[in-house]
Formats: sequence, structure tokens, C-alpha cells
Amino acid sequence: MEKCNTRSDVQPLAYDTVREDTDLSSQHAILATHQAAQAITGCIARQSKGRKVSKPEFSAPTVKYDTRTMTLFDDETVSLTTTDSRVRVDLVLPEDPDGYQRQYLDGDEWEPTESTLTARGGDFYLHIGFRRYRNDTERSTDTAEDGTVLGVDLGVENIAVTSTARFFPGGELTHHFDRFEGVRGGLQQTGTRSAHRTLKQSSGRQERHSRDVLHQVANGIVKEAIDHDCSTIVFENLTNIRENIPDARWQHRWAFRQLFGYVEYKAEAVGIAVEQVPPENTSKRCSRIGCGFTVDENRPSRGHFRCRKCDHEANADYNAARNIGLRYVRRGRQSSRRTGDGQLALKSGTLTPKRGFTAYATT
Ligand SMILES: [Zn+2]
Repeated sequence: MEKCNTRSDVQPLAYDTVREDTDLSSQHAILATHQAAQAITGCIARQSKGRKVSKPEFSAPTVKYDTRTMTLFDDETVSLTTTDSRVRVDLVLPEDPDGYQRQYLDGDEWEPTESTLTARGGDFYLHIGFRRYRNDTERSTDTAEDGTVLGVDLGVENIAVTSTARFFPGGELTHHFDRFEGVRGGLQQTGTRSAHRTLKQSSGRQERHSRDVLHQVANGIVKEAIDHDCSTIVFENLTNIRENIPDARWQHRWAFRQLFGYVEYKAEAVGIAVEQVPPENTSKRCSRIGCGFTVDENRPSRGHFRCRKCDHEANADYNAARNIGLRYVRRGRQSSRRTGDGQLALKSGTLTPKRGFTAYATT
């Protein structure tokens, strides 16, 4: 049997079952699948050292928390989401004011990360994970309402590019479209009944090939979102795609809609939301925080972005993917529905309009 132990393996397989079998919210269900993935990884590691392993079972009632479901406060209380509502409770800390627990809680150089709540003999024990801040100016102040966003740009050269710099080349799809066009052109000229039948068969085959490719791209995008702990995947609005992606043929426009639909249902199945933002200027705007300069001349060639104001250079589709994600993050800050501020997932860290870049923790 194939190995299946990473978060992005386990989450899609287990998420639905966990939601159906328990009262857990989507975020708690996701964390439960991550906990299972961790246990399986531990087994594989032991097995590779020649030790005996058996199926992992969780005998003690435990719940995993992260910064979306748990908030630590300065008054030594903690707020936790439950299957019911959010509860805020006192932390019972050892008396010693210099104890190591207080050093982590009070120390500016530490921030909470994934934590575990265990129930034992009527008491609750919270094992709080901490990680070191990357530096003082770029510290994260994430709260429960924050979410990490994956921006996705669609196009012809690359069918999709994510803000984490994952590129899905469009060549294979365009090849299928070309072959279909070629077959159609040749057969329509002969105009016979059998030619018509061949045309229908061929178009069915090309469409199946294209759908297979698009399913794989959709899986790749959802995996990218899981691997970067994203709660939302953001696309540009597809309504006026004819104007926004002028080099797209009708087959490409069909492909974008298919792809969006596939990502939507595959993401929903693992508790990740899919949203759209207005596409205006996402390809001409400089995605560097603090710049945002927007002119046509920022695109000297189709694939290349170079800001005329700050000289920021990037692959054009990657620059657009960042803009798409950032547009959603900025809108979130203005909307009353979401009180936190979100962040954009990049390859090596996260980006927010207010605090700039934060590298991923190395642990
Ligand atoms: Zn710029």
C-alpha cells in the first residue's frame, strides 16, 4: 500500500468522516486529521528503525488547538472554541513567578502554536505549544478570526499559478485543444457522415483528457492550500473572463470554469472556502507591499512583470496571484464581518498589508 501520512494526504481522506461522525467544527476537524497524520508519521518512523508498530489509537480524550481556535490573553486566561460556543477560562499556573511556564507566556520572543487539550479525572490540561518569533518587527498577532489565503491566477501559458509560487503549466491543455481543432478542421472539410462520427468521438476523447488534466490541477491547488494551512482559496471573478484574459480561447474559458468548479467542491470537502475577487488590474499592479503602482508598462512582455516605480520584478502570473490573494485580504480588513486581518500564503512565509512579510517558522 502507498504511504499516506502527510497532512495533505490524510485531510482529504478523513475530513468528511470526521465531520459526519462528530460535532466538531471545520477547523477542529481539520486539526483532528492533522493529529492523525502526525500519529501515522510517528509509526512509520518507528517502523523504519525496525521497531514494532500497531495501529495508533487515541485513548485519552484530547483536542488539538491552533491560533484560529485558541487565543491567549495577558490576564492569564485562554479562550477556546468548543463544539458549542467559545469559552474563556483561567489558566491555573504554578505559584513560582519565575517558573518556566511564565517565561514562555510572558516572554516576548515566544508565540503560541498548535496546542493540545486533554481531559483527565475531571480536570482539563492544556499543553501549549510555543515557537520563537522570527523577529520583533514582524511578529504575528494572529487571532481566531484570521485566516491564511491562497491566491490563484488563471491563464493560458500557465493554467494556474498560486501565491505560493506553484506553477501549473497550460501547455498540455492547449495541446489537447489544438489537436481537437486540427481534427475538426480536417474532418469538416471531408464532410461525410463517418467524418462527423469521428469528430464526435474525438471531441469526447479530448474533453476527457482535458478534464483529467484539470482534476489534477485542482488537486494540486487544494494540496497547496492544505500544506500552507490556508482557510480560503481566492480566484479572480470569472464573469468577464473574455476581457480579462484576452488570449484565452473559448476552450480556455471553458477550462477555467471547470477548474474553478473542481477546486470549489474539492476544497469544500476538506473545510476550505473558495472565494472570488474583482479581477481589475491584478496583472498590471505591483504586488510589493507599500508600492501597488499600476500601469500597463509594468508588463514589458506577456510573462514578465517589472514595476516602473520600484523596479520589483517577478513572473507576471505569480505577481497576479499575489494581487488576487492580497485583494481578498484587504477587503477582509474593511468588512465588518471579519474583524481579524488575514494573511496571504507565499512560498517562504506570509504577507499582510499592515505588517509585511513573516517567514514560516523553521520547526
Ligand atoms: Zn512597485
